[in-house]
Amino acid sequence: MIYKLSLAKSNDKFIKKIFQESMKDLGEFYGINWTTNTPKIILLEDRKSIDLLHVKKTESWLVGWADNNMRIVFILDKKNFEKFSSHKYSTAGYSALIKHELSHLFYKILSEGKFGPAWLSEGVAIYTSGQNKLKTKPREFKNFMSFYAKGGSEVYKESGFAVELLVKKFGKNKLFELIKSLQSISNENQFNKTFKKIYGFQISYKVMNKFYKNTE
Ligand SMILES: [Zn+2]
Repeated sequence: MIYKLSLAKSNDKFIKKIFQESMKDLGEFYGINWTTNTPKIILLEDRKSIDLLHVKKTESWLVGWADNNMRIVFILDKKNFEKFSSHKYSTAGYSALIKHELSHLFYKILSEGKFGPAWLSEGVAIYTSGQNKLKTKPREFKNFMSFYAKGGSEVYKESGFAVELLVKKFGKNKLFELIKSLQSISNENQFNKTFKKIYGFQISYKVMNKFYKNTE
């Protein structure tokens, strides 16, 4: 099949503002001053375009992603957001979504292209984009670690709060150390060992929930 793609430059001031603010905030969080060859944002018109570029039929919750090689954030255009997705549109939600995808690109600079456990990668993107503030806080952690190799719609529920807890309790440096270690980690067992070396404890729901309760 052959397709013809035509891209026009957008001067959307709203997106431009989100982009600039996100790059500044994320740059401060990650300690990366990204000023040249900055990411591009491509707004997609409809579900058909998402499926075509994703090279598969996507689920209705998928509204954006970040391509690390091309350093492009693909996102469903806000004007068609509710028409072609299962999400409600809100200014805050859409801004955080763009920031979330940009955060994935910063993360990949630290990880040298590795995604790592899905819960870690998504959790960092959720936490740094401020999406936790738009989510219902889980009462306790019970499934985030089951999303290691694969994500899916459920990974977004607890992972952002798990990462927030790790940052608030142990600081950013340990998190960055963990992300930088991902390049030499090839399975969950190795990840758990590295985690323990950096944080000083074996990650489990029991320990995480104990820390979580103490922050309330
Ligand atoms: Zn994500």
